[in-house]
Amino acid sequence: MNTLLRIAIQKSGRLQEGSLELLKESGLSISNGKDQLKTQARNFPVEVLFLRDDDIPQYVEDQVADIGIVGENVFAEKKKDNRLIKRLDFSKCRLSMAVPRGENYTGVQWLQGKNIATSYPNIVKGFLAKHNVEAGIHEISGSVEIAPGIGLADAICDIVSTGSTLLSNGLQEVEIVMQSEAVIIASPTLSPEKQKILDKLLFRIEAVKKAKNSKYILLNCPNESIEKITQVIPGMKSPTIIPLTRAGWSSLHSVVDENDFWERIDQLREFGAEGILVVPIEKMIV
Ligand code: ATP
Ligand code: MG
Repeated sequence: MNTLLRIAIQKSGRLQEGSLELLKESGLSISNGKDQLKTQARNFPVEVLFLRDDDIPQYVEDQVADIGIVGENVFAEKKKDNRLIKRLDFSKCRLSMAVPRGENYTGVQWLQGKNIATSYPNIVKGFLAKHNVEAGIHEISGSVEIAPGIGLADAICDIVSTGSTLLSNGLQEVEIVMQSEAVIIASPTLSPEKQKILDKLLFRIEAVKKAKNSKYILLNCPNESIEKITQVIPGMKSPTIIPLTRAGWSSLHSVVDENDFWERIDQLREFGAEGILVVPIEKMIV
């Protein structure tokens, strides 16, 4: 029988869409029926298991799945012997400490002797130990943010993305405990055949990720600016330069990093660039 790499992803929730999109953009053809628990990619040796995110680290540890996509927060909480293989740039959030808005929070020492409600007892334990603070931890699995309001705890440690849930529960964010994003985790050991499939998949994921962070840029410029512009947008090896029929002008094509894109555009205009076009890149293999 041909070897399949088993990938566990969240069945439904905030990780599911990004996980499926990533696999699809990597060229895997996957169907996801609503009640399906398992499916095989039609064109790649991969089987996808749909599970609750909290269960994924255990399944990966037990090698029921070979790899999994979870929030880094869940990986850190249920570490086991799994390895963090890759950060994926989606489902970004943070795990934060929050206290009632009226409290005069002065620093981590404020938590000394207090009760903290959280779904992340191990991460909170680590955070408190790092700051030499002793506090009670009250583990609850959901609706953590109502705990202070009903007298269950003095503070909470929970996932925050915009802070609107905290606000509507009368809480203020006081400490960021960790930043999180979706990550790929893998079993401590994989057979050479499975490792080979994983390497192939990671190569594709990297190409998709690089492409997302880059833009293809085309512009016209006076020939005397080519050198200066090349320094601003050097591209992968060098820009492509094509002479225009208009004397003394060229068309220059390159790749630019999404993050410092606007800054670069300003410089290019200073050097006389005109007709600047910026287009998305689908895949990028360097
Ligand atoms: P499950 O039913 O699978 O147990 P869940 O309710 O525990 O799901 P979700 O709320 O879907 O989990 O969140 C899954 C992960 O998505 C979290 O562990 C976290 O990493 C990330 N996440 C949570 N909230 C947000 C948010 N507001 N923005 C971005 N990412 C988030
Ligand atoms: Mg969960």
